[in-house]
Amino acid sequence: MLTAKEIRESFKNFFASKGHQIVPSAPMVIKDDPTLMFTNAGMNQFKDIILGNVDPRYKRVADSQKCLRVSGKHNDLEEVGLDTYHHTMFEMLGNWSFGDYFKKEAIDWAWEYLVDVLKLDPERLYATVFEGYEPEGLERDNEAAIYWEKHLPASHIINGNRHDNFWEMGDTGPCGPCSEIHIDLRSEKERAEVDGLTLVNASHPQVIEIWNLVFMQYNRKADATLEPLPARVIDTGMGFERLCMALQGKTSNYDTDVFQPLIGAIANLSNKKYGDDNSSDIAMRVIADHVRTIAFSITDGQLPSNAKAGYVIRRILRRAVRYGYTFLGQHSAFIYKLIPTLIDTMGDAYPELVSQKELIEKVIKEEEESFLRTLETGMKLLDKVIEDARTGGKKKISGKDAFTLYDTYGFPLDLTELILKENDLSADLDEFDSLMRQQKERARNAAAVETGDWVTLKEGTTEFVGYDYTEYEVSLLRYRQIKQKNQTLYQLVLDKTPFYAESGGQVGDTGVIVSEFETIDVIDTRKENNLPVHIVKQLPKHLEVPMMACVDTDKRAACAANHSATHLIDEALREVLGEHVEQKGSLVTPDSLRFDFSHFQKVTPEEIRKVEHLVNARIRENIPLTEYRNIPIAEARELGAIALFGEKYGEEVRVIRFGSSVEFCGGTHVKATGNIGMMKIVSESSVAAGVRRIEAITGAKVEELLDSAQDTMNELRGLFNNAPDLNSVIRKHIEENAGLKKQIEEFLKEKEAVLKERLLKNMQEINGINVIKLNCPMPSDLVKNIAFQLRGEITENLAFVAGTYDAGKPLLTVMLSDNLVASGLNASAIVREAAKLIQGGGGGQPHFAQAGGKNVEGVIAAVGKMIELVTK
Ligand code: ATP
Ligand code: MG
Repeated sequence: MLTAKEIRESFKNFFASKGHQIVPSAPMVIKDDPTLMFTNAGMNQFKDIILGNVDPRYKRVADSQKCLRVSGKHNDLEEVGLDTYHHTMFEMLGNWSFGDYFKKEAIDWAWEYLVDVLKLDPERLYATVFEGYEPEGLERDNEAAIYWEKHLPASHIINGNRHDNFWEMGDTGPCGPCSEIHIDLRSEKERAEVDGLTLVNASHPQVIEIWNLVFMQYNRKADATLEPLPARVIDTGMGFERLCMALQGKTSNYDTDVFQPLIGAIANLSNKKYGDDNSSDIAMRVIADHVRTIAFSITDGQLPSNAKAGYVIRRILRRAVRYGYTFLGQHSAFIYKLIPTLIDTMGDAYPELVSQKELIEKVIKEEEESFLRTLETGMKLLDKVIEDARTGGKKKISGKDAFTLYDTYGFPLDLTELILKENDLSADLDEFDSLMRQQKERARNAAAVETGDWVTLKEGTTEFVGYDYTEYEVSLLRYRQIKQKNQTLYQLVLDKTPFYAESGGQVGDTGVIVSEFETIDVIDTRKENNLPVHIVKQLPKHLEVPMMACVDTDKRAACAANHSATHLIDEALREVLGEHVEQKGSLVTPDSLRFDFSHFQKVTPEEIRKVEHLVNARIRENIPLTEYRNIPIAEARELGAIALFGEKYGEEVRVIRFGSSVEFCGGTHVKATGNIGMMKIVSESSVAAGVRRIEAITGAKVEELLDSAQDTMNELRGLFNNAPDLNSVIRKHIEENAGLKKQIEEFLKEKEAVLKERLLKNMQEINGINVIKLNCPMPSDLVKNIAFQLRGEITENLAFVAGTYDAGKPLLTVMLSDNLVASGLNASAIVREAAKLIQGGGGGQPHFAQAGGKNVEGVIAAVGKMIELVTK
């Protein structure tokens, strides 16, 4: 029996023997594409070639690509674990032809590989072909059918509709018919009973699609019409885990050697046996699947977080925790304990799992623990909702409550429903669905971008000249309109450009495009499938004239300083904190830089100082830049360049070196470190478990910071009469102040005692009530103290009424003894009534109440009013 590893190798060997270049998998997490968060198919990394933005280096390519299908167009998350052949993360084996071979070879080789090389039983194979689509004038894909007929009887070739058998990249762009290969893995007996043909595309777990061959031959335009594609493309994708299942004679992907060790480890940890119980089996599959996804996304640089891609990863982890909690009785963190097993099975092929083991475990453990706490809180909330429904005699809880549980506490609807059912309740599903729809709608509207067709003036692609020039004579190749959030913008593609397009954490250049007739502002430069596009608010009136593209050089220089400083900081951090420091993210703007890296505790102020000193020393050394452009990766490694896992690099790379700092980098840099001027770290914080963030500034920004610090200092000195030793003067002031405060407190206490005596002496009896009246300036807490003291001394028939003022603000106070309260008086009502006279309001308890106001003049009248109210 072939092992998973042997199967992966055999695929690569087969296509290498057919003249294909074998390339590495691109990272699963996509950093520079606004339309896609994760790689969801083998073709993603070749999108720029398929769109014609860059020329293919090889016309035939094959690989095994890590894919993730948990968001957007491909989202299999809810199926995973419930079925046995959809994963969140899986490997897709694929072969490509860029303008080289087409349908015949694609079909013949797929057959040769599956049947001649791997010896799959041809009687168990079926192929689908596109049946055509009248409204668009598309005929059946007879060409593909003819090639299949060489290998398969007509009864194994099935027509498929537009939905299943016509592939499109998006609303616009390359598209074409596809042909899927399905396999029937049922037993001989079952096959004799029911014809496999009837089960293709019928969601039968053992009659499944394994390989999809896409034949891109059209381009879909924005008006939805189709035109022929100049260079036709073959794009195939085969599910590696499904192929392993077929070859290893299993009926579930989870029974293959890809997943068995993980399933075994989960069974061990939870003291359950896989195969004993449907719910716990599902839970084990969910966890075995999800732990791979989370570990790989962490090594690719995407940690769980509360936004975007990070949130998707967090939700996947939570789904695993929740299944473990509910069905395997795991009430404390345990998923992180599976990492050693994952490394045993995949560490060879993916060494980043080994080198980042500690980080992966730490992040997962912390996420698990924090979610388990949320889960407990959610359980309590649900208990309360159930309790309320019961006491209210209801049979249903609101959809809103179910949605809150889903949205805030990560309770999937099925879990909530399960618990409700145990309590003879259900949820309002219509309301839940509508809330869910609204949320999706909101997300979609926020991200919606409408793009027009490209208008091509001249064929060609862009040459980037921005490493050497910040101004260049250019001409316009094509442009298009985009609409986003009610704003109309244009994207321009130039034949050459000095503008750096946002990538590798460095923001895009801004500047102007100038012609004889006009000047157009470039507000941003971004990459779209590797093509630099210049974003402008208005289209040039004259499109086909020579233009000068001019980068805003001040901003560029500030960016370059921050980018070079980032490299020096990276190196210094490793020297000060240790070799475990690894970049986890970075942002370089003209104003500042941000650098995220793996490290397990707070960076101390002393360590920060050390890093600053090291970097600033290297800045003063004025180390010149050595730049290596277009060198092979191997050579870059020999130079000692630090490669980041999860960064996608072409086969040739650029290396940036300042002395001992050597990094793979496509960004713009200073000519020598002296140009950075100076670097200052302004903050250090935590971004996630095991990941710290440093923010820093350079050059003129440091000057600004020093200036403002100096100004504050000078102002302080001025306040203290320019004392030479500010430190001891301020200390003295603080001590004196504390002493004075104490004295005042003592004075006040004495005053309180004297005042109380005086008040008692002036007590008046009106209608059998002992009225004590106060009317003078006084701090508010003193009034309160006195009120309570008087109440302690005179327990019967006491009414203390006060109208005081403090810093121009009037305050009314009423304190009553309990017997007066019992007889019906209410301090709160009295104070509120009297407060009208000082334009204020307040309240309190029946025995004690206070009210503030605006009108000091009204205090005397208010006191009169309060006396009237307590004695009447
Ligand atoms: P299915 O209908 O089974 O979901 P698909 O039509 O979504 O498959 P494609 O987009 O054509 O699949 O992907 C190519 C191949 O990748 C499929 O033939 C299948 O073998 C594999 N594949 C697709 N989705 C998954 C998944 N979630 N987990 C594992 N393998 C998958
Ligand atoms: Mg699918």
